[in-house]
Amino acid sequence: MLGEQIIKGMAVTARNFFGSYVSKERLTTVQYPEEHLVPKENTRQFPFLVYDGDDWEKGLRCVACQICEKECPPKCIYIVKSKDKKPDYKGQLQVYPATFDIDISVCMSCQICVEVCPFESIKMDTKFELSTDDRFGGLLISKDKLAKPNTYYQKLHPQDAADSDAVIAAEKAKAEAKAKAAAEAKVKADAETKAKTAAAVATAPIAAPALTTPPPAK
Ligand code: SF4
Ligand code: SF4
Repeated sequence: MLGEQIIKGMAVTARNFFGSYVSKERLTTVQYPEEHLVPKENTRQFPFLVYDGDDWEKGLRCVACQICEKECPPKCIYIVKSKDKKPDYKGQLQVYPATFDIDISVCMSCQICVEVCPFESIKMDTKFELSTDDRFGGLLISKDKLAKPNTYYQKLHPQDAADSDAVIAAEKAKAEAKAKAAAEAKVKADAETKAKTAAAVATAPIAAPALTTPPPAK
């Protein structure tokens, strides 16, 4: 029929046009700021630092390796290493960031810091309402405000957080197996040393008794 395809196209257009008024998932506008759309799982805004457990200072995964600082294209990460060390999630003593600031007025949300971090420490947040009238200090976010628990990350990006958790669990298991093997080797080496010492004592010649000097004449 002449114009059949045009009629079909118009029908699709009409269905989408009227559907966008009645179908909730196709409504593209919300009454912001009273209403918010739920961000998609791969939404990214600015980075945050992940910590494990309840204490953010103890549980911060970051070991201040400064790879993210070096790789950040606009150089908006500032890290100062600590002078002392604390155990990381594998139980190894590591330095930690005495200072870790991100200037989000410069950050371009590229996620390169996340990609290069070898410790699953820095991830992307979905929060975007961070405007302030303090142009300088207000947009320089320090580590106490950057620190967020792993449970927050799990809620924000469930799939990525599950992958991170799996990587950390595998590394922990590897570190534990290494520590166990080292402890077993030490026990074995100690037992061998003990056995050798005992054998040496058993085969050593018995020394002749020392001559005693006669008692002085009265
Ligand atoms: S997201 Fe990009 S610009 Fe922002 S801190 Fe990370 S590396 Fe730098
Ligand atoms: S966030 Fe990651 S890459 Fe950056 S300093 Fe900490 S451990 Fe290193």
